[in-house]
Amino acid sequence: MIHKFTKRANAMKPSDMRIILTASEQPELISFAGGLPAPELFPMEALKKASEAVLNEDGPVSLQYSPTEGHAPLRRKTLDRMKAIGIQANLNQVMITSGSQQAIDLTGRLFLDEGDTVICESPTYLAALNVFNICNANIVDVEMDENGMLMEQLEKRLQENPHAKFIYTIPDFQNPTGRTLSLDRRKRMLELAQQYDVLILEDNPYGAIRFSGTPIPPIKHFDREGRVIYMSSFSKIFAPGLRLGWICADEVIIEKYMGFKESADMHSDGFAQRITTKYMEQNDIDLHIEKINAAYHDRCNTMLACVNQYFPEAVSCVRPEGGLFIWVELPANLNARKVSIACLENGVAVLPGDAFFATGSQQNALRLNFSNSSEERIVEGMKRIGEVLHRELRT
Ligand code: PMP
Repeated sequence: MIHKFTKRANAMKPSDMRIILTASEQPELISFAGGLPAPELFPMEALKKASEAVLNEDGPVSLQYSPTEGHAPLRRKTLDRMKAIGIQANLNQVMITSGSQQAIDLTGRLFLDEGDTVICESPTYLAALNVFNICNANIVDVEMDENGMLMEQLEKRLQENPHAKFIYTIPDFQNPTGRTLSLDRRKRMLELAQQYDVLILEDNPYGAIRFSGTPIPPIKHFDREGRVIYMSSFSKIFAPGLRLGWICADEVIIEKYMGFKESADMHSDGFAQRITTKYMEQNDIDLHIEKINAAYHDRCNTMLACVNQYFPEAVSCVRPEGGLFIWVELPANLNARKVSIACLENGVAVLPGDAFFATGSQQNALRLNFSNSSEERIVEGMKRIGEVLHRELRT
């Protein structure tokens, strides 16, 4: 076979999505590998009502082509949600996307020429790294502690890369570590971005999934000059299958995003946008989010208790205040990839942490998802991982 792939296609690496997908095809397998919300909490009855109302009230228009920037009532609702967390914007500064994944992908097209520098957390969201890699970007990473990216190291990276385009950060309950960027560091990051003239890409799909602690305003809240591109999603608070997210940025930037979105898919699913809007008109989505958060809090606590009960003592992990994941650091002599294969043989799927590093790597970490399993399955799965870890430590 003759390959005529672009440099972009050749830059694409095989991903660990395969572990996740294999897991989703085998229901008997307990999977902590993905990042899926709990399907039993999707508001099925309310969605049936909302869909019917859209078809009855809006008629064929709901199935017609629609504006690239998104359904105006949904954009207004999105603005209201952002206002509630301290982001002031107008309608022309918000665009609906097909999940926040598309927002990241369009950002790559919009800002990254080959060789351009992106600064990100280490580790960070795998599928964002994939986007930056496809753009043949130069990915520079900054280490984190329990309060997020280290600001001194960030400044050093900015000095070393004076033409960096943007800093990519996941401020709340980061994927994969569950860590949250502290208030001081949010302000400092913006200061540094101003000083070194780079943009900030604030990717915040988990912000509303807070089940303990006090909310911290997004970086965008402090932004007075349109330096922060903020993105979020309905995937974790509502339903990922509807594929709805949004970008909030300066109008000039949104205009450019629209140009690229037009080429990508013209507009996000108009029917899904109307159903989501109707759902929010007919129901209080915040009550729904409270319900999700209560369930995730219980699942997270159960998983953390199991770490204490079933894992070797030398294992450590961060207690997240929200989100979907815990990040487990194994003793240094254990290899997480080897552990994940042994876990799979023991009926449980986990994701080795090394996949989340742009450069260098940590070989002894696992990302575990707690949102997509019942507490019973969490206990059973954690027992099985514990067995593997004790066995591996003995060999
Ligand atoms: N950003 C981060 C940090 C994520 O973890 C995810 C998905 N898990 C996304 C973006 C994309 O989500 P979606 O496209 O479903 O909004």
